[in-house]
Order: sequence, then structure tokens, then C-alpha cells
Amino acid sequence: MEAVSVAQVTAGVDLGGTKVQAVVLRDAEVTGSARVPTPRTGAGDVIGAIAGTIRASLEQASAKPSALRSICVGTPGEIDSTAGTVSLAANVPGFEGRVELGPLLSETMDGVPVRIANDVSVGVLGEFERGAGRSYRDLLGVWVGTGVGGGLVLNGELYHGRDTAGEIGHAVVKPGGRRCSCGRRGCLEAYAGRVCMEQRARYLQKRGTATILFRIMKAEGRDRVSSGVFAKALKSGDKLTRQLLEDAAEALGIALASAQNLLDLEAIIVGGGLGDRLGRPFVDQIAERMAPHLFIPDKPPVMLTTELGDLSGAVGAAVLAGG
Ligand SMILES: [Zn+2]
Repeated sequence: MEAVSVAQVTAGVDLGGTKVQAVVLRDAEVTGSARVPTPRTGAGDVIGAIAGTIRASLEQASAKPSALRSICVGTPGEIDSTAGTVSLAANVPGFEGRVELGPLLSETMDGVPVRIANDVSVGVLGEFERGAGRSYRDLLGVWVGTGVGGGLVLNGELYHGRDTAGEIGHAVVKPGGRRCSCGRRGCLEAYAGRVCMEQRARYLQKRGTATILFRIMKAEGRDRVSSGVFAKALKSGDKLTRQLLEDAAEALGIALASAQNLLDLEAIIVGGGLGDRLGRPFVDQIAERMAPHLFIPDKPPVMLTTELGDLSGAVGAAVLAGG
């Protein structure tokens, strides 16, 4: 008797400093999803939370654990995809050193194969395969959040270079300019990354510039200026926030115009925590700043917001798990 084929599913997980988001894909459709805050108590608990969100997603999809064919986790930090390890993911508790994420998660999930990938790459892949980028073959995704990351799709495929292509956050937009989290000066991330923008705001406030940014932060019960705090301050007409975001749009415009002049892309997608939160008005502002630097100004790339929002990473990871 021939074996009856069982509908198999793949799981994708987006591991971040604030949340763990999982989805389950069946026949290219998202059939289940679950999210929990990232545990603050160490790597073991984080891996437990990843396994928990996958199981919850399977349940929602009415899929048996035995139907799960493979898992992919998108994570920040340095990745050794062969060994399945992650290092230096400073925002994820317990992941400051080296964590054998792939082998440990696979063991927890009864031996299901686990693949590890870069968080921004899987986000861009999610948008390319299932979101805003699905009708294009050459595109750049720029993820504006804690830092600024990028993912490049060329000729319909993610371009990895020798391993680390897409780091547009460290494109130089102003030689000798503001200090970047990488230690160098004048990188895009120094102007458009959330952490660097917060540092700049604290510096300017100390020197007497008025801002409601930190009052909003405290009222929200946070100790960091999150994307939501920036968005609220902007809405309230905070001048310093508006200036910081103008500087960010200007820096993004310069870097993206250079990328465009080099690659002649069809589309650029702006995502990430801050990019998603600020949405279309921010993307339009970036496009405006980009325009004067375009070598072929009458053929600009289509400028897009994400469609999947904060699900793009998990969806991209689930796609990668199936590939
Ligand atoms: Zn840098």
C-alpha cells in the first residue's frame, strides 16, 4: 500500500530583544502564529520560549508536531549557519556569548532540523516572497530599528556575498560624522538607528535643547526610547524628534541613492521597528531626500512600506525552512 502523504508544515521564528514571534506555514499560507515577550532570564529560557511559540502556532494551525518538517530561526548577532550557533546577539538575554541555538532547539523539538539565519535577511525575504516585494526581482530592504540593517535580493535571490552582504547601516553618509555603534564615524546607523538617535537626543537635552521624548518614555514605563515613543513624540510636535527624524531621512536618502546608483533596483522596502511604526510619511520623506542624489532621476525605484509588518521576519524564516 502506498503511504498517504501528510500535509507537512514548516515553522519560522523571529527572535528579537523584545519578542519571540513564530508562524507556521502550510502550502505557503500562514496557518498559525504565536508571540511571547523575550524572557530576560537567560538562553535556556529563550530557547524554551521559541519552542513554546512553535508548539502554540502548530496547535493554532491544527497541525500535529509530527507534521513539522523543519524550523528556521532568524536572529540578530553573528551566525555560523553550518554549526547552527549564534554569537554576540547583545540584545537577547543570554546570547551575549556563543549559543548552540540550532542543536539545542532541535533537541527540544524532537530532532526536527533547525536552520539559523540573519534576522534582517529573513525579514526582507518574507516581504520579497509574500509581502510588498513579491512582484519584483531586484530589491533592497532596509530595516530601520535598534540599528539599521539591510537585505539585498538580486535576480530573484537573496544575495549573501561572502556571508555578510547588505550591511547598508554602515554605508558612510558623512565622513568624520557622528559616532556609530560599530565604533566608526559617519555611518548611516549613526543617524538613523534608534540607539544612536537616543544617544544624540540625550546629548542635546543635556546641552539645553527642550524635548518631551524622555517624559513620554517614562510615562510608557520604559527605560529606552522605543519606536513607539519616537512616534508619539513626533505626533505631539516635539521639535527635537522632528529634527532627529529629518536627519535620519536625509542620511537614508543619501545611502539609498548611492545603492540605487550602483544597482539600478526596481524597489526599496523600508521596514524594521521604527520604519514600520512611522510608515508611509517617513518613506515619502526618505524618497524626497534621495531624489537629488539619483544619477537617473526619472527612473527612481518604487519606494515601499512593508506589508507583513512585524510578521515579515517569522514568515521569511518559515519560507527559508521550506527551501
Ligand atoms: Zn557603523
